Amino acid sequence: MNCPYCNLKDIKVIESRESSDSIRRRRECLKCSKRFTTYEKIQISSKIVIKNDFTKEPFSLDKLEKSVRIACTKRPVEKEGINKLILEVEKEVNSLNQPTIESKKIGEMVINKLRTLDDVAYIRFASVYKDFKDLSNFENELNQLLKK
Ligand SMILES: [Zn+2]
Repeated sequence: MNCPYCNLKDIKVIESRESSDSIRRRRECLKCSKRFTTYEKIQISSKIVIKNDFTKEPFSLDKLEKSVRIACTKRPVEKEGINKLILEVEKEVNSLNQPTIESKKIGEMVINKLRTLDDVAYIRFASVYKDFKDLSNFENELNQLLKK
């Protein structure tokens, strides 16, 4: 960033204010001391997941993958099958024209896809999921189910 007045590169940020989708910075040029304001769009790289208790967290592929893997424990499911499912869910989530997605929507996507992949994994996932309707405590619950 250069000063719009003297084109010098040494700009000091004197104030930063963040809003929901942009950052406003008040800047001062170190040479000519003129001040100006810039606005930067915040890049939303991933969707925000809204959980059932209305708390929010960034969409995590790792978490999703983990819960699907647990559901597929000791099932004859190819690694590629799981990867493909995760990719499809990711694509579906990212294709939504909105910054947020409800946790239960993601769960439903997974359930629909697991159904075609493996019956038992599907039932495991669905039975835990139906009680929770939320992916947050899901891993623990699935793990316990599998230990029984
Ligand atoms: Zn300047």
